[in-house]
Formats: sequence, C-alpha cells, structure tokens
Amino acid sequence: MTEHATPRVLPLLQQRPGGLPAPKAAFLDGSRMTACGLLSDGRGRSLRDLRISVTDRCNFRCSYCMPKEIFDHTHPYLAHADLLSFEEITRIAGVFVSHGVQKIRLTGGEPLLRKDIERLIEQLSTLRTTEDRPLDLTLTTNGSLLARKARALKAAGLQRVTVSLDGLDDAVFRSMNDVNFPVRDVLGGIDAAHAAGLGPIKINMVVKRGVNDQQILPMVRRFKGSPMVLRFIEYMDVGVTNGWRMDEVVPSQQVLETIQSQFALVKLAPRTPGETAQRWGFANTQGEHDAQAGEIGLISSVTQAFCGTCNRARLSTEGRLFLCLFAEQGWDLRSLVRAGASDADLASVIGHIWSGRTDRYSELRGTTSAHGAPGVRRVEMSYIGG
Ligand code: SAM
Ligand code: SF4
Ligand code: SF4
Repeated sequence: MTEHATPRVLPLLQQRPGGLPAPKAAFLDGSRMTACGLLSDGRGRSLRDLRISVTDRCNFRCSYCMPKEIFDHTHPYLAHADLLSFEEITRIAGVFVSHGVQKIRLTGGEPLLRKDIERLIEQLSTLRTTEDRPLDLTLTTNGSLLARKARALKAAGLQRVTVSLDGLDDAVFRSMNDVNFPVRDVLGGIDAAHAAGLGPIKINMVVKRGVNDQQILPMVRRFKGSPMVLRFIEYMDVGVTNGWRMDEVVPSQQVLETIQSQFALVKLAPRTPGETAQRWGFANTQGEHDAQAGEIGLISSVTQAFCGTCNRARLSTEGRLFLCLFAEQGWDLRSLVRAGASDADLASVIGHIWSGRTDRYSELRGTTSAHGAPGVRRVEMSYIGG
C-alpha cells in the first residue's frame, strides 16, 4: 500500500483503557507524601498546570480530533454517572493546587456543552494558590456557544478564554468543523468574550497542509493590532483515529516564513517558564516590537518538542490522571474519591504519581522508544482534552 492509500480515519481501538490503580506506597506509613507546594517529577519538572476535561462530547467534528466516521451516534460516550461531579472536580483540583498548581484550564470535548459549567467555575474560582493568590482560571472552547455564555462565564469567575479557530474563509471553516458551522458565529463569540472582559484572548489555529494553510495570512491580518494573540499549532498525532501523517504537518518554521514574507517580526522572550508557544512580535520600522500591533505564537509540538519544561497534568472527564497527552493509560482518581479517600490520601497518591513521571513522548517521537507504532492505544484528544 502506498502512503497515500493509507486510510484517512483509523478505527478507535480502545477509547478508554482501564485506569491504573493508585501506587501502594502512597498509603504506607513510611512513604506517605504530603503537599508542600513544590512537587518535582523524575526529570526535575514542577507540577504547575492542570487541564481538566469536563465532557467527552462535542458539537464539532474536526477531522483531526473527532472524525465523524468514528464519533457518530453509535459512539459510546460516557454516561453521566461516570463523569466527575463538580464537587469531585473541585476537591481533586484543590489537592493539585496544594501541590503547586497555579493554572487550571477547562477543556473537553467542548467544555461549554457541560451543563451548568458556570457552577463549576464558581467553585474553582474559590481556590487559592499556595502563595494565597487566585488561580489563573481559563477555558479552551470552539467558540460556538461563547456569544451566549461569555457574560455568565465571566460573572462566575473565569478569567480568560482560548478560542480555537482554524480559518476565516467560511467554506474552509465549515469543512474543518465538519458540521457546517459558520465562521461568523465563532467570530461573534470572540467579540462577546472580549466585551465580557475574558481577556487576553488567545486564538488557536491548527494548521493542516493542503487544508487550511492558505488561511495563515488572512488570520494574521485579521488579528494583528487586536487585543487577541493568534497562535499556530502543529497538527499532532494525538489519539489514533485522525489518521495522522507527518506530511500533513506544517512545521512552525514554515508558518513563520510565510508570515515573515509579509510582516516583519521580532522574537520575544517567554513570559513564563514552561510556556508552550514561541512568541514573535510585529516589528516597527526600527525593528523593535510594536506592542500596539501585538504578537503571534508558534506551538511546535511536533518539530521542536518542549517536554523538558512540561509542567502539565491532565484530569480526564471520568477522573483519570494522565501525565502526558500521548499516554496510554491514566491513574484512576475517581475510584479513590468515591471510596472515601481523604485529601491527605489524594495528596500522597498525586505526589507519588508525579514524582515517578518520566514522560517525554514528543522528544522520542519517531524513535523506537516512542509508543507511536500502528495499533497503539493512545487516548483521543476529545477524551483527555487539549
Ligand atoms: N473543543 C474545544 C476546542 O476545540 O477548543 C476544546 C477541546 S480541543 C481537544 C482543545 C484544542 O486541541 C483545540 O485548540 C484543538 O484545535 C486542539 N487539537 C485537537 N486535536 C488536535 C491535533 N490532532 N493536533 C493539534 N491540536 C489539536
Ligand atoms: Fe470538538 Fe475541539 Fe475536538 Fe474540534 S478540536 S472536535 S471542537 S473537541
Ligand atoms: Fe508534555 Fe507529553 Fe507533550 Fe512532552 S509529549 S510536552 S511530556 S504532554
């Protein structure tokens, strides 16, 4: 079979592999761990960022994430009783915060589809970091319901949003979301989020060669000089169903060259340690950053791995802790919570799990050590969240 005859969509082998049980050492008197706000993994990486998936459902069918041939009406989505409740999420999040987490991002699936999501935001917004500061509380959305919900989200305590938008051309956008959703409604959602004060807003564009690479420059023109930061994401081999191929990835370097063919850019320093995006600012005629014109970001998850500073943990919709976007299995925290574990027990379990973490999939991609061979059981992006 030639490469181009490879099926475009692969079957879902195992959407939700069984959860890993908590490490036994976490409960043994001599080896219990307590939260001290500074937890380091096997490669010296701190735990700072928690991404929480609140639903495995979505109203879009982006082919790189939930191809509609697989995620159709026969797909076994999680039952309501399997989801973590808002109280369970907040409790687990509180334990993560006691270990040093400073930022929480809600994701999915489409997080705004989770009923009463504002109630969860209200609860999470009461958490304080170990330095007694409010958390950086944010959410990634496809923007389809933002116009309706932006004000309520802000009132509940959400600080900002990231909106995914893969192009401005209506036909391209409709075909990428594969449910014929019009681009003007997402743009309306972005405006509503801005008006509600949910900024600074980030706009994420996944670039797929031959699909939306023609949209790079129109997107730059649209958001240059606006308060929004446009970020280009390399199409990743997350999950197994999207039939990912390297030749469909547009390397960030190429995106950069495309933009530089029309706009002068200067490299900017990272704002925070572990920042995933390389920042480039629009330059003025003296070659300095023109802050009014703003900046763009490049997220090179495939071509320039940033595992060395990866400080993110992911909590799935049903309460499994994943230490890497490309992990095959997650640790079952929900069973612990439902079996009556105390906060101290949870802190010890999370401490042991993070301390033992060695994940660096993107650094190993393409080598025999990466678990990226055909037939792998990596979880889907829509289950674990982006
Ligand atoms: N539904 C929401 C959205 O689209 O913003 C939140 C969940 S979505 C899984 C989170 C982010 O992951 C989105 O920005 C999406 O574009 C990105 N994403 C999904 N599949 C991807 C892939 N294969 N490669 C790169 N990014 C991907
Ligand atoms: Fe839905 Fe977001 Fe995945 Fe698109 S990327 S299918 S909007 S979860
Ligand atoms: Fe982090 Fe895994 Fe991505 Fe590396 S591949 S940056 S360890 S999530």
